[in-house]
Amino acid sequence: MQTGDGLLVRLRPATGSLTPAELRVLAVAAERFGNGILEVTARGNLQVRGLTAADVAGLASAIGEAGIGVAEGVAIETPPLAGVDTDEIIDPRPLALALREAITALDSPLKLAPKLSIIIDGGGRFHLDNIVADLRLKAVKTDDDVAWLLSLGGTARPVALLDHRKVVPGLLAVLRRLATMGDAARGRDLDLEVIKTELAGGAYQPTGLILATEPAMPVAGLHTLADGATVLGVGLAYAQADAASLTALLRKAEELAAAEIRLAPGHGLFVLGLDHEAAAIMQGLAFSLGFRIAPDDPRNHIATCAGTGACASALMETKAVARVVVDAAPELLDGSLTVHLSGCPKGCARPSSAELTLVGAPSGYALVVNGTASVAPSAYTDANGIKSAFAHLGALVRENKDAGESARSCLTRLGAARIAAAFEQG
Ligand code: SF4
Repeated sequence: MQTGDGLLVRLRPATGSLTPAELRVLAVAAERFGNGILEVTARGNLQVRGLTAADVAGLASAIGEAGIGVAEGVAIETPPLAGVDTDEIIDPRPLALALREAITALDSPLKLAPKLSIIIDGGGRFHLDNIVADLRLKAVKTDDDVAWLLSLGGTARPVALLDHRKVVPGLLAVLRRLATMGDAARGRDLDLEVIKTELAGGAYQPTGLILATEPAMPVAGLHTLADGATVLGVGLAYAQADAASLTALLRKAEELAAAEIRLAPGHGLFVLGLDHEAAAIMQGLAFSLGFRIAPDDPRNHIATCAGTGACASALMETKAVARVVVDAAPELLDGSLTVHLSGCPKGCARPSSAELTLVGAPSGYALVVNGTASVAPSAYTDANGIKSAFAHLGALVRENKDAGESARSCLTRLGAARIAAAFEQG
């Protein structure tokens, strides 16, 4: 797709994973055919930026020659550690594969919205509950089996609990209905009652249903799974890495004989197949290369879109403003809230609400408190005032926070009017 810095290529590995050598091929190709910037998106897709039309064939060849299979058709997403996460109720990948095969085998292809997404989540510590999807299947434990809870159009519209033998036909029925509504129809457009009736034959409501879910684990850090295996999570700073840094990291992964790389939602990647000592060595290198390596890295709590120079719609250099926020207002980045920096009201980096959202505007920046990038802002500042505006927000938390209180709780207690006043004081 065309963006402010040229063409952008987005891809998802067909198998959900890459070897370190395969990802290194992509990094080298991003340098050669693009502008050397790679991104992992909030949904865990890989993006190569800055290509011209003439470069695309070269990148495609490099991907083909490396034997990297790329997922095509409707997006079917599973958690980044699917099949590895020992807290999972079930590995969701066989169901994802069965659904893809069933869609491919249909006599007449379904015309679905290009951005339609289906999440199939086996649960576990690295679940996808906070990722929006048109259709979501979540594994739940029943008395003596596993069933799949179907939700539509977001995270909060459960519609049916499907027996695992009926889940693929059930999903196909929902997809067929979406296709009859036109190729722009999304999960949120479906009528809940109609779908409930349609799925009644394959749905059941057993007793003893267990639905408890903890918040998903942050990606960055050294994780020990219940079976003792070590997984290294590395985050890309502000969703991006330069090809040289990523190549250096992947060479070390190859040298240490890492088995697999999984792209992860939240702009990160997991390195699998290292023992604890080797993972710690690689973590040290990742830190020196500027990657996020720890759950308490303040950069974990800033969501940025591409920003000026990379998106034609942008009115904010989001990555530069992110660095200003880290320097001027570390008090905000204690992990209790997200600061969303959006180049325009579209809010690509975080479609859902954030406690603090800064939106690029023609004459400066607009601050939204507890909302999305598209809602009416509470305060404004010009470009020269941004550092001081965030310094005042940081001071507001520092000076008003009770002992042990989080930044989020403090700001909630103070209210939008105090927050807006502090921001505009800058
Ligand atoms: S939010 Fe706006 S500026 Fe940022 S990437 Fe999306 S369209 Fe571009």
